[in-house]
Amino acid sequence: MSILPQHKYPLRSLTDGPTCPRPCRIARLTCSATTTKPRSSQNQLVIEPRLVTTPDPVTTIPSTGTPLPNEPSLESTWPHRGWVASGCTTLVISLAKAMMGAADSHVWLEPMLAGYVGYIVADLLSGVYHWGVDNYGDASTPVFGSQIEGFQGHHRWPWIITRRQFANNLYALARNVTITVLPIDILCNDPVAQGFVSICAGCIMFSQQFHAWSHGTKSKLPPLVVALQDAGVLVSRSQHSAHHKPPYNSNYCIVSGVCNEFLDKNKVFEALEMVIFFKLGVRPRSWSEPGAEWTEETDETQPQVTVH
Ligand SMILES: [Zn+2]
Ligand SMILES: [Zn+2]
Repeated sequence: MSILPQHKYPLRSLTDGPTCPRPCRIARLTCSATTTKPRSSQNQLVIEPRLVTTPDPVTTIPSTGTPLPNEPSLESTWPHRGWVASGCTTLVISLAKAMMGAADSHVWLEPMLAGYVGYIVADLLSGVYHWGVDNYGDASTPVFGSQIEGFQGHHRWPWIITRRQFANNLYALARNVTITVLPIDILCNDPVAQGFVSICAGCIMFSQQFHAWSHGTKSKLPPLVVALQDAGVLVSRSQHSAHHKPPYNSNYCIVSGVCNEFLDKNKVFEALEMVIFFKLGVRPRSWSEPGAEWTEETDETQPQVTVH
């Protein structure tokens, strides 16, 4: 992922800055800043104002003003459907090769275990990716710019994801899955490898749908989805709602959420943020005071969504 340096933005001293929303974190950072000298020329840790991103002309959802629930950019187009179809086809080929290989070799346990590992790894990867696009870069970042803008905008208008049509929500990940998995489909005949790839890539591709369901109301979700959420197979509504509450730096995983407890308890992402800061001098957005970009704007045209 490309990370843009953020030195060009005006900086404020910690002592001059506004009240920090995360006293523990900043207190720890202050201590680290006085004992370790960052490569950056600044000798004291400062809080910078949140970046103001330029509206992406490709994305018709405005960066300012409440978007409409019937925004045309939330609808699926035929190219969106085409990428989702190609992604599904790629996954079916991978899964079929895993099953046929298992049937030929009469070995089912290893491919099934590989699939389970793929399910866990997909949750972990979804968290790492989500943490990255939430915290680094902006709409102008090469390759990831539109994804970064989308995820960061999601914090301001979380309810939009529930209005986004299926293929519109999934096509970007489906495109990546097609490009990545198709060569593996062609070149690899190992059922264990295909078991891992098919489940891992499938969970990653559908992670945005799992994410959308985690923002749904219980009464409007299919009963099977609610049962899977309650069983912890899919990321739960209560767990993901914690991601959208202060201090906005936990529960990044959006497949099953099974990795969230380990990652948050052991402050894995906070450690990575420190490494990136002291090596590259780049601060994550989650260190700055929550501004309008983190704070949810409610959909005034609809009743309030309640997370059960
Ligand atoms: Zn987020
Ligand atoms: Zn969300």
